[in-house]
Amino acid sequence: MERNYTVGVDVGGTKVLAVRVSASGELEASAVRPMPGRTAPEPDVETAVADAARDVFLTHPPAAVGVSAAGLVDAAGEHYLFGAHLPWRDAPVRRRVEGLLGVPVVMDNDANCAAWAELTAGAARGRRSVVLVTIGTGIGGALVLGGRLVRGAHGVAGEFGHMQAVPGGLECECGLRGCWEQYCSGRALERVTRVALGRHLTGPEVTALALEGDEVAREAFGSVGRWLGVGTAALVSAFDPELVVVGGGVSAVGDLLLAPAREALRSSLQGTDHRPVPDLVPAALGPEAGAVGAALLARDGRP
Ligand SMILES: [Zn+2]
Repeated sequence: MERNYTVGVDVGGTKVLAVRVSASGELEASAVRPMPGRTAPEPDVETAVADAARDVFLTHPPAAVGVSAAGLVDAAGEHYLFGAHLPWRDAPVRRRVEGLLGVPVVMDNDANCAAWAELTAGAARGRRSVVLVTIGTGIGGALVLGGRLVRGAHGVAGEFGHMQAVPGGLECECGLRGCWEQYCSGRALERVTRVALGRHLTGPEVTALALEGDEVAREAFGSVGRWLGVGTAALVSAFDPELVVVGGGVSAVGDLLLAPAREALRSSLQGTDHRPVPDLVPAALGPEAGAVGAALLARDGRP
């Protein structure tokens, strides 16, 4: 008998990652293709998505394919609207990829896909109301309330990184000032250490130093962690989740980041002695979270 399975494809700034996921949710295979580039013709990216997906097909086609894309996707999952690292602009990507593959295709943004993966098979398994904050170069986010992804009226909810944290603060790539991700991200980590040391270190270098016990690097994570807690308090005040899952490269240090964040969350929230304060926990799924989540969204009919 032919086994049922789905495929997820994550389209990021540099690569296209495809995974095959069994009907029960196990990751069975993966394949990587280069992303054609942010100035490439749009169809080249769709071809890369379809090729990467076919790389993990069994001899019979999957029940459905999910596409996870970094950037803004409309509420229906039909159009990719905008993203700094991909060439698609208001493009009907879902329909085009479905045309190339000849199987049902669903699409969502990468943070929503990662949140669905954590909820289904990761750190938030069994939970119903969860905030996901992904800290990489910037901040990605997603919100699940009552077991459903909250996409907003236009599909672009969860852009937590560009909530204003400091009026008139540091300039952001998005054109605004004082965005949360200017204080809580890989870039913030690099800036804080550069100011303290007078030389530039990359995020992974700061992480390595912090894990060796270097005081400046640890304090840089302390700063980013405190900003994580302060921003998370705003999200907890607004949405009252059971759990906050923290993913992305910067979260790999665990409690070096999460301990100061928990403390700042408590001290930035009203009535903490008289209400449950959700825990901040590291994401369980690594860099495949977006692709796995896309496959699970395809399996679950994009709830
Ligand atoms: Zn911004």
